[in-house]
Amino acid sequence: MSECIFCKIVEGTIPSKKVYENDSVLAFHDIQPAAPVHVLIIPKKHIPTMNDVQETDAALIAELFATARQIAAELGIAEAGYRLVNNVNADGGQVVYHLHVHLLGGRKLGALLS
Ligand code: 5GP
Repeated sequence: MSECIFCKIVEGTIPSKKVYENDSVLAFHDIQPAAPVHVLIIPKKHIPTMNDVQETDAALIAELFATARQIAAELGIAEAGYRLVNNVNADGGQVVYHLHVHLLGGRKLGALLS
C-alpha cells in the first residue's frame, strides 16, 4: 500500500471532504484551511512534484486547472477572485509530495511573496 497521504485519500483509506471527482482528478477540502475556501486539486496518479511532470501529463495538468476554475465558479468565488498555488519542494513550502494545486478564496488574500 502507498505511504502517500494523498494516494490514501484517492484510495479512500483516509477520509476527505470531496468536492469533485472523475477518473483522473480528485478535489477535496484542505484539512487546515488557510482561507474560507481552501480546496486541493490533485491528479489521482502519483506525481511527487511539478518537477516530475512529463510531456505526456500535459492534458492532466490542464485538467487540474480546468477543475479549479469549475470549482471556483461552483463555490461562488470566481468573480470576486481566487488564487491557485502549487508549492514545489522544500523552499517552495511543499509538505505533501503528491502534486496538488491549492484553490484559495472567499476573502481578500494578502500579498503573495514573502
Ligand atoms: P503543501 O504545503 O504540500 O503545498 O500543502 C499540503 C496541504 O495538504 C496543506 O495545506 C495541508 O493542510 C493539507 N493536508 C495535509 N494532510 C491532509 C489530509 O490528511 N487531509 C486533507 N484534506 N488535507 C491535508
